[in-house]
Amino acid sequence: MKLIGLLGGMSWESTALYYRLMNEETKHRLGGLHSARILLHSVDFHDIERRQHDGDWEGTADILSDAACGLKSAGADFLVIATNTMHKVADAIETRSGLPILHIADPTGQVLVAGGVARVALLGTRFTMEQDFYRNRLERHYGLEVVLPNADARAAIHRIIYEELCQGKVLQPSAVLFADIIADLAGAGAQAVILGCTEITMIVDPATAALPTYDTTALHATAAIKRALAA
Ligand code: GLU
Repeated sequence: MKLIGLLGGMSWESTALYYRLMNEETKHRLGGLHSARILLHSVDFHDIERRQHDGDWEGTADILSDAACGLKSAGADFLVIATNTMHKVADAIETRSGLPILHIADPTGQVLVAGGVARVALLGTRFTMEQDFYRNRLERHYGLEVVLPNADARAAIHRIIYEELCQGKVLQPSAVLFADIIADLAGAGAQAVILGCTEITMIVDPATAALPTYDTTALHATAAIKRALAA
């Protein structure tokens, strides 16, 4: 079994989900007392979040590349960055650390294509929804048409992610808002919705959502175990 290098803490709420999901998937595949081989470097999210909102992406790349170099020296075989947003600097981290990255958009793109989805809604931080780095990968590698919520909805989602979900708060009015936004996106012709922030799974119930949900946290964690167990 390969050793997974997990870059986490962004936020730790979702990293805890990754840890559980990776171990559950390993147990599911191998049975008994098997568990995942994981090296975790969990950063102080305060330092990352401040730089994100200051536009200091180079600073975030420095912090995460240093952490990834540490994981490589400790023996990690590949890297899992447990956040969609920080894939903005994934290329820099991969180049500087020399560790191959399992990109979070890839398992999601693959499952969407396999499921026959062509037009997909994307929910995430404003960085993920509004900048090119994530949407381009879905469009260019998987031929998906990406539909976004309107500007007010994007601002609300961004605020809920940082002020509530990343701080472990799952509030009913925000859950209703997410449900309404997903219903609007269904009305706009989306066939499915990507939960493109690793905390959104905490607040969206797939059983009642107006669209089929594609949870990047679960898809990424499962893909990591598949890779760790591949020959
Ligand atoms: N975990 C979130 C994501 O998947 C947001 C926090 C961050 O900015 O990393 O994008």
